[in-house]
Amino acid sequence: MSDAIPFLAPRADVLARRARIVADLADLLPPECLIHETRELVPFETDAFVSYRRLPLAVALPRTTAEVAAVMRYCHRYGIPVVPRGAGTSLSGGAIPQEDAVVLGLSKMNSILEIDLPNRVAVVQAGVTNLNISESVSADGFFYAPDPSSQLACTIGGNIGMNSGGAHCLKYGVTTNNLLGVRMVLVDGTVIELGGKALDAAGYDLLGLVCGHEGQLGIVTEATVRLIAKPEGARPVLFGFESSEEAGACVADVIAAGIIPVAIEFMDKPAIEICEAFAHAGYPLDVGALLIVEVEGSEAEMDATLKDIVEIARRHAVKTVRECQSATEAALIWKGRKSAFGATGRIADYICMDGTVPLSQLSHVLKTTTEIVDHYGLRVANVFHAGDGNMHPLILFNANDPEDAARAEAAGNDILKLCVDAGGCLTGEHGVGIEKRDLMRHQYSEADLAQQMAVRAAFDPGWLLNPSKVFPLEGRPAA
Ligand SMILES: Cc1cc2nc3c(=O)[nH]c(=O)nc-3n(C[C@H](O)[C@H](O)[C@H](O)COP(=O)(O)OP(=O)(O)OC[C@H]3O[C@@H](n4cnc5c(N)ncnc54)[C@H](O)[C@@H]3O)c2cc1C
Repeated sequence: MSDAIPFLAPRADVLARRARIVADLADLLPPECLIHETRELVPFETDAFVSYRRLPLAVALPRTTAEVAAVMRYCHRYGIPVVPRGAGTSLSGGAIPQEDAVVLGLSKMNSILEIDLPNRVAVVQAGVTNLNISESVSADGFFYAPDPSSQLACTIGGNIGMNSGGAHCLKYGVTTNNLLGVRMVLVDGTVIELGGKALDAAGYDLLGLVCGHEGQLGIVTEATVRLIAKPEGARPVLFGFESSEEAGACVADVIAAGIIPVAIEFMDKPAIEICEAFAHAGYPLDVGALLIVEVEGSEAEMDATLKDIVEIARRHAVKTVRECQSATEAALIWKGRKSAFGATGRIADYICMDGTVPLSQLSHVLKTTTEIVDHYGLRVANVFHAGDGNMHPLILFNANDPEDAARAEAAGNDILKLCVDAGGCLTGEHGVGIEKRDLMRHQYSEADLAQQMAVRAAFDPGWLLNPSKVFPLEGRPAA
């Protein structure tokens, strides 16, 4: 790692020199790549975690790796914090400038650079949207597997930042399992390459480290990702149960039996009602909980897998089993699930939790989650990736009422602690960001955290990259 350029100015000077910073950046980028007027900075003051907001000093929108490197060299030289940003859909506040920072947005770097079907890889710029990758290879019978519900908007750079997952990750894995290489600009402007088209690389697995780095180890400008051949057929099936506990226990038994469908998604009664009212997907309204189970393969394979799953579901008194009959129906079923957060936003403000638990704990954690939310006098809707044990309680509250908002935050903290205490972890796919930063001590010892911070500091000794995220502010080493 290069340390050739020393820090020349303390951070306290940064705000006072805002005009100078903008003038200097204007030497590095053309006018259409630099935002500094207050009203134009407003869209960058928060992300999908809207509880926090702060205007950035300026927004740089470079078009090439060389321009990213130039901005980083400048900011490093003058000790200016930088917050990388893709589409700003983070649910944990990862892309919010919490200090006087330059936001470095990748939205202009949105080209697909290479599709290499013989090697089943694509090389894309970091600002390409997740869905765009699948769309560009769909006609050839391929797709990019990780499918966050935000895939229409979120970028591959953001997916790498958060190690994002999605409904179909149960079988195909999350971002880290589908990423082969990156080009990345370090904090001082040095450009490095990690991994590539080959399936393995010599030396330390730094690519694994970069996946989930939350914008703290560098700016990813290009990614090489794995392409997967589309299956012969795929069929989502709806399983309705009397209660959330029965549905949770069924999921645990399916996985314990060694059956791995492509997806097992869960909705409790409030979530079913919210999603059905929005998507009209034909979800049964007379059940207490719903599983969307997708199987894939040949007709015979799908029939055989389904038969085994139905048998297990019967042991949990399944009330409804409905196999989807057409591609249109399948699309509607997934539209309902993938619109769940937006549909919830139509009826209330919500915060979305993201704890992960061992499957054997699903029923217990679902039940206790309801008790916690009841205790705070709030409501909850659960819609999540059940096969991965990745829970998303959506706590409904009124953001205009500060007491209600404080209760929602307290309930969320209790639920995440419950997940950790049940043998799980604070985040399955949304990252730590600002949201869970202060809960990290509930998961890790001081020694664990110190080691993680030492790794971060090896990339960014001055803590300039997305500095206020992931690690509790108290007890950090001095930058
Ligand atoms: C309605 C909705 C549904 C969602 N569903 C899912 C889901 O199913 N699964 C899931 O995993 N997430 C989901 N999310 C969360 C979010 O979409 C993901 O975290 C996504 O990966 C963020 O991508 P982004 O481009 O918006 O990144 P941003 O929000 O802009 O940034 C995310 C993080 O990555 C860093 N970053 C961004 N780009 C770069 C880069 N090029 N180099 C270095 N660091 C970078 C940022 O600093 C930040 O820490 C959902 C969000 C919403 C609003």
